[in-house]
Amino acid sequence: MPTMLPELTSEIFGYLDVKGLGRARCVNTTWDMYACAILFKRVERLTNGAINQYDQFVSMLADAHSVIAGLGALHVLFPAYPAPPFLEIFTPDDEYHGVINFLMSREHFSPALPPTMRRKLPAAAAVDHDAEAASVPRWKPSDFVAPRAGNRGVREVAYLTKGTFAVFVVRTTVGLPTYALPAEWNSALANYIGAFDYQSAYPDLTAAGRALMDAGRDRAPAGVQTTVAAWRGHGWALSSDWQPWSASGRCNGVASVGCACARRYFGDRHCAGGVPLPVRSRVERMVAYEEPMETTFWWRGGGMCSADCHEGMDSMASGARVSLKPVLQGL
Ligand SMILES: [Zn+2]
Repeated sequence: MPTMLPELTSEIFGYLDVKGLGRARCVNTTWDMYACAILFKRVERLTNGAINQYDQFVSMLADAHSVIAGLGALHVLFPAYPAPPFLEIFTPDDEYHGVINFLMSREHFSPALPPTMRRKLPAAAAVDHDAEAASVPRWKPSDFVAPRAGNRGVREVAYLTKGTFAVFVVRTTVGLPTYALPAEWNSALANYIGAFDYQSAYPDLTAAGRALMDAGRDRAPAGVQTTVAAWRGHGWALSSDWQPWSASGRCNGVASVGCACARRYFGDRHCAGGVPLPVRSRVERMVAYEEPMETTFWWRGGGMCSADCHEGMDSMASGARVSLKPVLQGL
C-alpha cells in the first residue's frame, strides 16, 4: 500500500485534476476520502465566501438537481485553470425559479445586467503605444463566458450579483441540466459537478489546453468572437478538427472521443468522473445517495475527419437527447 507523508497529502492532492483524483480514489479508502474532500473544498472556495449558509446552498442544489458547470467546474476538475469570481449554475427547466428565489431571498443576491452582453474587445488590444499593455491582454474573467444564446439546450439565463461575486443561473430546456453542456461553444465546457456525480467529457484534451468547436476550423461561432479571443489569449488551442488531436492519430468514428459523429454520454468510458462522496461514507453511514439513472447523450456534429468516419458522410448536425444510462451502456 503506498504511503504518503500526512502533512504533504493535501498539498499534493491540491494539484490533481479529475483523472489524477480518480486514480487516487482507487488506491485506498483514505485517499478516496481525501479526493472527495479536495473536490468539496474547491467548490466551496469557488463561492469565495459569498454564500453565508453554505450547507443550505448545497442542499438546495441537490434538491433542485442542479449542477455547477462553466468556468467554475473547469477549475474544480482542472485546478491549473484559474477560479472565476462567479458561479454558473445549470438548472433543470422547472427548477430555475426555485434556484433564483433561494439566491435572492436567502442569500440576498440581486439581478444585474450580464457582463457578457458587452461586445467590444478589451481595451488592452487597442493600446498600441503601451507595449506592456499590448503584450499582456487584460482579460476580465467574464470575457471567458460566451453569451449562451447560441446554445440550443438553454432556455434563459439570469445574472445575479452580491458585492463583487456573481452567479449565472442557466435554465436548461429539459429536465436534466447536463443536456445544455455539450452544446456549449467548446468542449472544455463539457464538465460539471453536482451533488450526485461529477464528469468531464474530454479530460485529456481539456488538460492539454485543447478545445473542440463545432463551427469551421478557423471560424468562431457567431456572437462569441470576443470570448474566443480571450481563450486564445490564455493559450487555449481551439479547433473543430478532431483527428490531429487523436492519441492514435486515427479516428474511430462513432467510437472516438471527439469526431463529429462520436456517440458520447456523460459517464461513458471516455469521461473522467465519479460520485463526489467517499465510498466509506456511502457504506457505513447510509447517506442519501442517488445514482442518477438519466444522462445526456450527444454527438458533437460538424465535419467528419474523412468519409470513413461514419458511413461516407461528410458532415452532420449536432444533437443531444436525455437517455437512460443502462440503455446507453448497452450500445
Ligand atoms: Zn472522425
